[in-house]
Amino acid sequence: MSHSPKGAILKSIFGFQCPKCQSGPLFKKGSLLKPASLFQMYKHCPTCNQSYEPEPGFYFGAMFVSYAINTALFIAAWVALTVLYPDYTLGLLLGILVLVVILGLPFTYRLSRSIWLAIFVRFDPKAVKD
Ligand SMILES: [Zn+2]
Repeated sequence: MSHSPKGAILKSIFGFQCPKCQSGPLFKKGSLLKPASLFQMYKHCPTCNQSYEPEPGFYFGAMFVSYAINTALFIAAWVALTVLYPDYTLGLLLGILVLVVILGLPFTYRLSRSIWLAIFVRFDPKAVKD
């Protein structure tokens, strides 16, 4: 294979996989019982050894990606509430938004880092091991 199959980039982003070899995991196995474990990232790809932090502070920019993800989640929650419960109060809306941010935190954290890394690291077929 000389190029990344169509859709594989999205698959590796949403599968939280290394963008270079599209097979190594970005994050250590986490447990919902130990929330801190959901945020532990490998320093290098266990498969191809790609660095997951090419420079100090690399993930500063991932914050903006997570803002974008949160905005999308807000809009989804607001639309869902408007459809399902049109008589909602502002307090209920704010409560749901806070819940969405807190419960979505491991997801937005992982997804924003996965997207950010995929912007800077290209797929390399030579990195794929069979
Ligand atoms: Zn890799």
